[in-house]
Amino acid sequence: MRHVIALDVGGTGMKAALVGTDGALLYEARRATGRERGPDTTVETILGFAADLRAYGIEHFGESAVAAGVAVPGIVDAARGIAVYSANLGWRDVPLRELLGTRLGGVPVALGHDVRTGGLAEGRLGAGRGADRFLFVPLGTGIAGAIGIEGTIEAGAHGYAGEIGHVVVRPDGPVCSCGQTGCMETLASAAAVTRAWAAASGDPAADAADCAKAVASGDPRAEAVWADAVDALAAGLVTALTLLDPRMLIIGGGLAEAGETLFTPLRVAVKERATFQKLPEIVPAALGDTAGCLGAGLLAWDLLSTEVSA
Ligand SMILES: [Zn+2]
Repeated sequence: MRHVIALDVGGTGMKAALVGTDGALLYEARRATGRERGPDTTVETILGFAADLRAYGIEHFGESAVAAGVAVPGIVDAARGIAVYSANLGWRDVPLRELLGTRLGGVPVALGHDVRTGGLAEGRLGAGRGADRFLFVPLGTGIAGAIGIEGTIEAGAHGYAGEIGHVVVRPDGPVCSCGQTGCMETLASAAAVTRAWAAASGDPAADAADCAKAVASGDPRAEAVWADAVDALAAGLVTALTLLDPRMLIIGGGLAEAGETLFTPLRVAVKERATFQKLPEIVPAALGDTAGCLGAGLLAWDLLSTEVSA
């Protein structure tokens, strides 16, 4: 059975799948990156994982994978197939496409940025299905974005497009890891809400999910923390939709798991801030943590269709 290898590399763990021609997940597996043993180990772990997946395909589907797609965190030069930088994995200029191609017997390999790859899957297979223009914004430890245009994701001239988490929404706000102050992700990421709620509730172990539960049960301290995060989020999102005019705004990541506790006030806050802008539909992401893997599969299949038509 014809299939491709899809790999989604995170900071600590990797998800992988063999993906069929129709996008079906034929086989799924997980493995640790081994990042505590250094950058060379993580690269070797990825190569070994990919080789094992290839062997699994030969054994169970009668042929080896025809291509591979890999999503990685940090800064990615997709055109050159290089993982330029990852603070999490300690990478600098890793020629991952070439290394994987060699390890996998010369099959074509596509390299993608994790959030843009997840956005590709949300746009084609998930919440954005059928939307010609969308913005995918996962709210996790940080906040990133993927700009969807006609079935592809805009990477920008240098591979930095979509970094909406570093739009400054409160110039007098907290210091951000990027060096600015008051970036949206210092106020509206799941990590920011966790920090704010741990301080407000007096429970150092309380997190963003606990805050959402307290909001749902009517705790006024939680409501204040939540309203502050929603306000910062709406400010950043309105900046984005003023620039991009997306048809759909897809919100994912840990904070979106709060459901209508997030989406109802967020829709109101965005509407209140917008003046002339056309409001996009604001919806939760649909694919959860499989988005990166499904997107990596799409990258691999796209590579083959490009090669055939080229
Ligand atoms: Zn920042």
